[in-house]
Amino acid sequence: MSSAAPRAGVDLESARSDYDALVARGMTLNLTRGKPSDAQIDLAAPMLDMPGADFYAADGTDTRNYYGSPQGLPELRAIFSEPLQVPVPQLIAAGNSSLELMHDTLVHAMLSPLPGARGRWVDEPRVAFLAPVPGYDRHFTLSERLGIELIPVPMTPDGPDLDVVRGLVAEDPSVKGIWCVPQYSNPDGTVYSDETVRALASMPTAAADFRIMWDNAYAVHHLTDTPARIADVLALAAEAGHADRPFVFGSSSKITFGGGGVAFLGASRANVDWWLRLTSARTIGPDKINHLRHARFLRSADGLAEHMRRHREVAAPKFAAVQRVLTENFAATPGVSWSDPAGGYFVTLTVPDGLASEVVRLAKAAGLALTPAGATHPYGKDPQDATIRLAPTFPVLEEVEAAIAGVAVCLRLALASTEAAGR
Ligand code: PLP
Repeated sequence: MSSAAPRAGVDLESARSDYDALVARGMTLNLTRGKPSDAQIDLAAPMLDMPGADFYAADGTDTRNYYGSPQGLPELRAIFSEPLQVPVPQLIAAGNSSLELMHDTLVHAMLSPLPGARGRWVDEPRVAFLAPVPGYDRHFTLSERLGIELIPVPMTPDGPDLDVVRGLVAEDPSVKGIWCVPQYSNPDGTVYSDETVRALASMPTAAADFRIMWDNAYAVHHLTDTPARIADVLALAAEAGHADRPFVFGSSSKITFGGGGVAFLGASRANVDWWLRLTSARTIGPDKINHLRHARFLRSADGLAEHMRRHREVAAPKFAAVQRVLTENFAATPGVSWSDPAGGYFVTLTVPDGLASEVVRLAKAAGLALTPAGATHPYGKDPQDATIRLAPTFPVLEEVEAAIAGVAVCLRLALASTEAAGR
């Protein structure tokens, strides 16, 4: 987070006239969408002509038919094994959405005992998950839909607050899991420290069937020359005698196509067998033509890294623009700070308590859509009303610049109004 030093108050009159000018411009901009831009998607355009007439996988499997392992094409799993830190035999390549895999995993756990579980979660009086905040709203929606209670845990620069986590999992067997986006987290870009990963993998839990939902959605989405490399949660958990604890997820939604990528699940052999057995009631197998298309296009882990460097060329200037405009406006404003992520898709803007929803409201009235305040917290409630999630990847650079400048105008007016009201 960028820190803020005290400075003199914001002038209400000039803040209001800047805001009136912003409204008069009648813009329509959207900073809610954590999606790749058209220019990023175009990078994978050659894939649309693949695999062409040669639709045989490396082992000779005809990808057009039902043949092959329900675990997905081995050559594609080999490409994602290293970035996702999952050995190929323990990695499943599935359909296009990792969120779908998270959903299915939790539904399976509800309806069939997980390896190491005494029973089905649906038969338990209470199932609770820890939700590091700020976090990803779709994790929260999915949990709520399944009746999984969410317990907020504050984030630190190293990941979820370990003292809070340890305290909550140690005594209460109804705490069954934790949501984690361990690298370039959504929304604040946090990279979990090795100590955090080790602690999560090894801590004593009252629930024998405790699970870490390790959503490594941004494993290869670097914005700098020094890519983060988090510790290997599967290896550390196995070393600590909790091999079945992590479920690792990832996808190529923000690598190739959001609407046509491939999602991955990695876990212990026991978890993988459990998952494949239950999933066999749902599908005979994944879209192997898409697997082959991805394997041919990305070629190798190095080919994937090279492709992601091209993504970075498009995305990084937008993140830089966010930093520049926020720094110009708020470098010395008490209570205003923001994340400067080294990867991922989001920036978190933290404003003085009680102002986030007002900034979002002002922005909306000026034609600028921001993610609703509170979306980063379970049940849509940010108790401080202080967190705003900014998603700069989708609009073109000029629009990002205009949109962040607009956010700055709205925040200055919110700050000035609060000061004027003597709050
Ligand atoms: N996980 C995180 C942390 C995300 O931010 C997103 C999308 O924004 C997803 C998962 C969605 O992934 P998928 O497209 O593979 O379902």
